[in-house]
Parts: sequence; structure tokens; C-alpha cells
Amino acid sequence: MAKYFLTTAIDYSNGDPHLGHALEKVGADAIARYRRLRGDQVHFLMGMDEHSQSVLQAAARADVAPQEWVDRMARRFEDFWRRLECSNDDWIRTTEPRHARSVTELLRRIQQFHPDDLYVAEYEGLYCTGCEEFKQESQIVNGHCIEHPTLELIRTRERNHFFRLSRYRDPVLDLIRSGKFLVEPAIRRNEVLRLLEGGLQDISVSRLRQPWGIPFPADPEQTVYVWFDALINYLSATGFPDAGYEGLWPADLHVIGKGITRFHCVIWPAMLLSAQLDIPREVWAHGYVQWEGTKMSKTSGTAVTLDEAIERHGPDPLRYFLLREVGFESDGNFTWERFDERYTADLADGLGNLASRTVAMLSKYRDGIVPGSAASTALDLAGAESARQYAEAMDALDLRAGAEAAWSLVSAANLFVQQTAPWSLAKSHRDAELDDALGALARALARLAVLASPFIPGKAQQLWHMLGMKGAVAEAEWSAAEQPEAQGRKVEHADVLFPKPARV
Ligand SMILES: [Zn+2]
Repeated sequence: MAKYFLTTAIDYSNGDPHLGHALEKVGADAIARYRRLRGDQVHFLMGMDEHSQSVLQAAARADVAPQEWVDRMARRFEDFWRRLECSNDDWIRTTEPRHARSVTELLRRIQQFHPDDLYVAEYEGLYCTGCEEFKQESQIVNGHCIEHPTLELIRTRERNHFFRLSRYRDPVLDLIRSGKFLVEPAIRRNEVLRLLEGGLQDISVSRLRQPWGIPFPADPEQTVYVWFDALINYLSATGFPDAGYEGLWPADLHVIGKGITRFHCVIWPAMLLSAQLDIPREVWAHGYVQWEGTKMSKTSGTAVTLDEAIERHGPDPLRYFLLREVGFESDGNFTWERFDERYTADLADGLGNLASRTVAMLSKYRDGIVPGSAASTALDLAGAESARQYAEAMDALDLRAGAEAAWSLVSAANLFVQQTAPWSLAKSHRDAELDDALGALARALARLAVLASPFIPGKAQQLWHMLGMKGAVAEAEWSAAEQPEAQGRKVEHADVLFPKPARV
């Protein structure tokens, strides 16, 4: 069994998660669930980034101590991720001792292996508290950060510890060009390559007299810079530096947003090279969820809350819509109208209706027992092809194409119902043909429960149960998608999978 360690970005605990956060988490969760279906030993990490200045400010505004504030926010975020059925195996918070220990050790190793990679210097620049980083001229428009046009940049001058990032330009370029370090999708890889080709400046990795954060080793006046601290969470979660951490490290996949590729694809591998640690295998940088063309973010206003989006049709339809319509590879739009359309067409009238009709016909004509039948109908062939295309897309982390491949089988099955018309086969007592049709439909649904489970885990389980299948669909073997078996199962009438909402 292959190990597969994947992570999401850790989020600032300065406000509630929004749809942008949700896209990343459910996308990573779909990948984790798919890898489990394929038999991988998956370790899925999520967590919170709790040392930022914006956290301090949010705590001050709420008039609570920072630790109390981050405890509260961590519970809120976790609650949202449970509602969205995220199947993470670990949850790391950068205020945990296991993390501080790992940050200190990584700095110690840099000092040990490349002592001149860390040095002290004076720095002056414009600092964005939204990004928690100094901004360069190219990142400033009309005096504001591109990502945070409503925040004031703060002119900051202080003496800090610096990391000699400039030394790692060529090694990181080589790693990406040779494919030893995958940056996907290609549009993000090209951005990172252009950035590296333009040369790298050293970066400040500490802040002076910051009351909230991890103390810089051997310099009590300085605190580890929040980004330097945050990136190390992925390593901390493996148990580093304790023996056995290599069982998980290096990470197989970091899922992040496209706005933080510089940290993950340039600074992070450079830090690891400097500390003589293995670099991650792959970074996937997704696009942003847009609401009527505007990026969703804490600072650009909340046109829609995550609560509302979950309440609209439930958690599974939101997961499906984000991954199928908004997409995981570039920016995509979220509108209620489109969400409602997808819900009705793909889920209520599509998969839901197929399941209800099939169960109803099996109950009516075969007392609910899936008959033995020939396993080579046109629908079985279509199902095998769907599973093949699905695996190809999911292996490439193309979640939209994965969902499309699965739902192409829904269309094929609904067409098959029309073409075979089981009700007229029953009427004219063509029993063998009726068995073949009903058997094929039951197999298609069993296959669909497996293929859909990374996208709609709750509903896939309900469908699995309706088909009389035992156990958890999440624990099904991949062969259940490739060569489903349903003969002899007793189907069960259950609640409609996707009720038609009154408002649509
Ligand atoms: Zn910013």
C-alpha cells in the first residue's frame, strides 16, 4: 500500500471561513477519498495558522486573549469542515507545542548545515497585514496590496533575521524543471518559473518584539516570521523531528490557493533544502471562487456566507457544485442561479431520479431483489468507460473531469431506462430481458455510488445502502467501480436522495 500524505493550506483564524476556503478543503477531501478508494494509505492534514498579526487584531477587537480567540476560531473552522464531511486524519494548530518544537528544530538544522543561510540585517519596506508579508513595487497598485485593496500598507523598518533565499534560485528552478518537484496546474508552474527566472531576494524570517508567535532561537527579542512558522506545519504534523516522521514525510501533495505559490513553491523548498530535508512531491494551486466576478475574501466583503451556501441544498450538493462548476484548476463563478440549476439537473433529476426509478422498478417487478443477469449490456460498457475516464482524471487531480466522467454514467443510465423501457418488458412478460435491464441498472448505480463518493460522500453512502450494499462505500474496493456486483442484493426504499426544493 502506497503512502499518500496530503495537506491543505492552514487558514488564518481572524474570521469565519468562506466559500474560497471551502473549495480548497472539499477539493483536497475529494482527492483524499479517491486515493483511499485506490487503496493508498492516506494521511490527510488540515489546520489553522494562528500566529498572524491579523489574529492579534481580531482578538483585540473582540476583547479576548489571543489564545482564547484562536481556540474559539479553531472550533468554528472545525465545525464547518465536519459539516462539509472533510475526512482529515489530523488537525494541526500552529500554537501547539508539537509545532513550536518542529520550527525550532528546522531552524537549528539550517544553522547546522548552512550557517550563513541565516544572518541579521536592517530592513525597511511596506508590509501588508492581510498577506503578512512585505510587498514589492510590482505587488502594489495605487498604494495598496493587489490582494487587499482596502487595507493600508504599513511602512516598517526593523532589524531582523534573514534567510538567504537568493542562494536557492537555481536549485529550486532545477527541481521544478526536472519534474522532481511538481507544480500544477501548468499555468501556476509557469508563473513560478518566471518568478524564479527573475531572481530571488533574501527574506526576513523574524519580527522584532512581536508578542504573539514562536520565539526565534537564541534571540529573545525576535519572533519567527508567521509565514516561515506556518509553512513548517506540514512537517510538524509528521512528528518531526522524532524517529518515524519519515514514514509520512515528504508530503505527496500540498493543496493551496494560487495566491500563495511563492511561499509553497519557492520559499518552502528552499527552507527544506537548507535544512537538508526532503522536499514535497507536488503542489496543486487552485483558483479562486468568484462571486459575480469578485474574489471571495474576508476583506472584500461577504456576499454569501458559507452557512447560507450549505443551507441552500445541504453539504453534498455544495461540494458537488464547487468541484464540478466552480472548478479546482482556475477561477470560477458561484451564483445561486447556477447552483440551483446544477442541483436540479445533475442531482435531483439526474442521479436522484435514476436511483428512485431503479429501486421502484426492482421492488415492483422483482420484490426488491437484484436479479442475476448478463453483465455485458451497453450500460455496463458505458460504466466501465466512465470508471476508466474518471480514474484518469482523478489521478491528474482534474476533479471537474472526474465528476463529469461519473455523471456521464447517470445520463447513460437514464437513456438506457428509456431505451429498454422495463415497464413494457414487464407487461409483455419478457422476463430474461427485464432481468438484464434491471441488473444492469443496479450495477450502474453501485458503480455510481463509488465514483460519486469523493464528491458527495453522504449521499453516496445513502445510495449504497438503498442498493442493499453492506458497510461503508468509503471503504469499498476500487473493483466495486470497475466490476460492480449487485446480484441478490435487496434494495430498500429510502428517502429521496435529492428532494426538489420549493424555491427552484
Ligand atoms: Zn495583501
